[in-house]
Formats: sequence, structure tokens, C-alpha cells
Amino acid sequence: MHSHLHVLLLGGTSEASALARLLAARPDVPAMVSLAGRTINPTPPPIAHRIGGFGGVEGLCAFIEEHAVTALVDATHPFAERMSANAVAATRRAGVPLLALRRPAWQPRDGDRWSEVPDARAAVQALGPAPRRVFLTTGRLELPAFLAAPQHFYLVRSVDPPEELPPRARLILARGPFAEADEIRLMQEEAIDILVTKNSGGSATYGKISAARRLGLPVILLRRPETAEVETVATAQEALAWIERQG
Ligand code: NAP
Repeated sequence: MHSHLHVLLLGGTSEASALARLLAARPDVPAMVSLAGRTINPTPPPIAHRIGGFGGVEGLCAFIEEHAVTALVDATHPFAERMSANAVAATRRAGVPLLALRRPAWQPRDGDRWSEVPDARAAVQALGPAPRRVFLTTGRLELPAFLAAPQHFYLVRSVDPPEELPPRARLILARGPFAEADEIRLMQEEAIDILVTKNSGGSATYGKISAARRLGLPVILLRRPETAEVETVATAQEALAWIERQG
């Protein structure tokens, strides 16, 4: 029994969902998952949940105190830089242990033609002036940067509809996983000549990376933001083992 444990899980990723499923089977480990509210129709988690920002470091500290949180697992998207930094600051202040559950970044393999860039603006620069047919999967929040390069055609794939699309664009609303064979077909049908993506890591969206390799296409990857040094694991099982050690 871990009756004095109360876990706060910062979610929004498939790793967080996997950990929530493991925790649902462990009523002796009370836990709550927190979602940012970015996705319009999130799949309801199998454990208690809340939605929306905490109100910065102060708000997260207040939440930790109010709910007597004894351990925090940050399983947000690797690009959720602010939330991860807030988790570090708030847990330090509150004296609560913190674990990051984060899938490793993708690494280039033989045949990959990658250029890594720090952000969406740099990705636009890397596309160059000549019109290209771009498969753009960076997420709708990064899309405004590409409005500055309207000469390209964009095949935009996103979970939720973006506010504005570039003038020459086709929008696909879809949530992974995406199989390599389907990605190859899509890229061929749309005569794509370059892929722009975040280096999200994980298997669910790796199909486009291996498809680009098969087709010999270049890939522009948005590099992950630097995060503070935090104890990190890659799987939900390892995260559950860490939680159990906190009891
Ligand atoms: P962020 O910039 O780190 O977070 C901004 C604010 O949102 C945080 O300060 C916090 O507000 C709130 N927030 C974030 N995650 C939360 C959570 N789990 N529970 C409660 N509040 C949360 O992160 P983001 O805005 O979520 O995303 C940043 C980048 O990551 C974007 O580029 C986005 O596209 C990408 N992303 C991608 C995916 C994906 O599946 N592809 C998923 C998530 C994010 P307060 O300060 O008020 O607490």
C-alpha cells in the first residue's frame, strides 16, 4: 500500500496515456492526470483528470500543495518546453520528486538526408526560395511561420484544424499512428519533395521518417528544446517502478 502517495501526471502524449492505464489498474496509487487542453476532443483518461494551465510556477506550486501531491511525472510532449521548465521549478520549490517520462529523439540512419534546425522560422529559411512541395507535420501552432513562404505547396497534417493555412495548401486532419506504406503512398500521390517535422521521437509517427528514407527525400527536423537535467525514463513501466520507489 502507498496510501501517502499522490501522483500528478502531466500528460498529453501516448507515453502518458500508457502510464495512466497502468495507474488505473493500481487503485493503491492515487493519481491524477493533467492535460493542457490543446486537443479539442482528447480521449478521456482512465484515471481522474483535470484540463488547462495551472497558472505558471506559482499556480503549479499551489496545486501541489492543495492536492498533497507527493510525486510528479512530466510526460508532456518533448516540445512542451514551458510546462517542463515549470515542473522543474515547482517541484524544487515544493520539495517533491520529479521524473520525466520522455521518448528518445529519432537518430539519423544510413540513407537519411536530414537537416536539423532550432525552430519553425529556421525551417522556413532551410526550405529556400524556390517553390517546393512540402509535407508539413510540425503541428498547427508552428504553422504561422510558414505563411512567410507562400511560394511552396504545403500538405499540412495536424490533429486539430489550424487557424490559417498558407495559400497553396491541402489539410489532412488525422491523429497517428501512421504506417510507413501509407506515408509512402501519400507522399507519392502529392508529389512531395521534402518533409518538415519536429523530432518528436517514438514509433507512432516514425512512418514518415522511414518513408522519406525509402523515397530518398530530404527532411528538415525541428530540434528538441533543451531541458533541465531531470531523471528521465522512456517507458510507462519504468515510470511506474519509479513511482513505487517514492512510496
Ligand atoms: P508549453 O508551451 O510547454 O506549455 C504552455 C502552457 O500550457 C504551460 O505553461 C501550462 O500553462 C500549460 N500546459 C502545458 N501542458 C500542460 C499540462 N499537461 N497540464 C496543464 N497545463 C499544461 O506546451 P504546449 O503549449 O502544450 O506545447 C508546446 C509545443 O509542443 C507546441 O509546439 C506543440 O505543438 C507541441 N506539442 C505537440 C504535441 C503533439 O502531440 N504533437 C502535444 C503537445 C504539445 P500554465 O503555465 O498556466 O500552467
